[in-house]
Amino acid sequence: MISGMVLSDAESLMGSLELDERYARRILYWVYRRGIKSFDEINDIPVRVLQVLSGHVVTGLRSPIVSEVSSDGSVKYLFSDGGGLTHETVWLPDGKRRTVCVSVQAGCRMGCHFCATGRNGWGGNLTAGEIVNQVVSIQDPVTHIVLMGMGEPGDNIEAVIKACRIFTAEWGLAAGRRRVTVSTVGVTPAVKRLLEETECNITLSLHSPFPEERREVIPAEARWPFTETLNLLKEYNNRNKRRFSVAYVMIGGKNDTDRHLTELKRLLSDTDIRVNLLPYHPADVNDDRCSDGETMMRFKHELVTSGIGASVRKSRGADIAAACGMLAARRNDRQEVQKKNM
Ligand code: SF4
Repeated sequence: MISGMVLSDAESLMGSLELDERYARRILYWVYRRGIKSFDEINDIPVRVLQVLSGHVVTGLRSPIVSEVSSDGSVKYLFSDGGGLTHETVWLPDGKRRTVCVSVQAGCRMGCHFCATGRNGWGGNLTAGEIVNQVVSIQDPVTHIVLMGMGEPGDNIEAVIKACRIFTAEWGLAAGRRRVTVSTVGVTPAVKRLLEETECNITLSLHSPFPEERREVIPAEARWPFTETLNLLKEYNNRNKRRFSVAYVMIGGKNDTDRHLTELKRLLSDTDIRVNLLPYHPADVNDDRCSDGETMMRFKHELVTSGIGASVRKSRGADIAAACGMLAARRNDRQEVQKKNM
């Protein structure tokens, strides 16, 4: 399939089909920018070339199977791989910003305790083509791409790096490199590769500035201590002004105390690493609740006055369960109920 190919892949394909390699860029344009599902939709390449292509490959783009619109305008999409695995995509309009949050795996095997995706296990990796498809096939305008949906990018790094190249390349989606962000729990070898092989922004999902507390909710901390990722980001020669940040999901009484704030400030002072303070989406499995608005604003104020860039993100799509993994989980639950009732 074409979706997921970088330029050299497409040129090799043309060569193997004895077609002029110069058609490769045009084909990628039609797939990545115009989102065609069939080569028949192309009107500026000779029919003979399109017939040869149609006989050997497909575009690889698929429309979502379900979508839900929130009262705040955000939209959640569910895609299927055609073999029973599903993955989610969320589109979030906010002022002039149009962000699409894409998945990199069907499920996730990191097992973070606060996450619906983590609780529902892992079905498999998405291909680069399936990752890219989520941006191309929703047909909503997109200004920013975040790889922050289902799955851990560091656990599917080949496909993620390829997708990032397609997102930023001029023969791909040509999204500005500062508009693509990969979010990770900090799989250290993968973070190294993202720094070396892509130009995208990187967000570390922190949750707690204390390793022992973090390990309780993010088991990956035991294998890849977050301090390793922070050190990589701090030491990186950031000539191109890539944006590095920490995502901090705030849970009342758990990670929003003065002790946490003081340690966050200690870790991030004198760095260019920003903090995104995120509202917690309550899950059914425990009594955890989001920190109150006053506490979130106080964290932001204290960080900013300490010279650390910080912002509070709005809660979006609460009525459509926009936290990652929840739509897929609900669909799985429905299918389980249907099976039991058969
Ligand atoms: S928070 Fe991210 S890494 Fe953790 S289980 Fe959920 S999807 Fe996986």
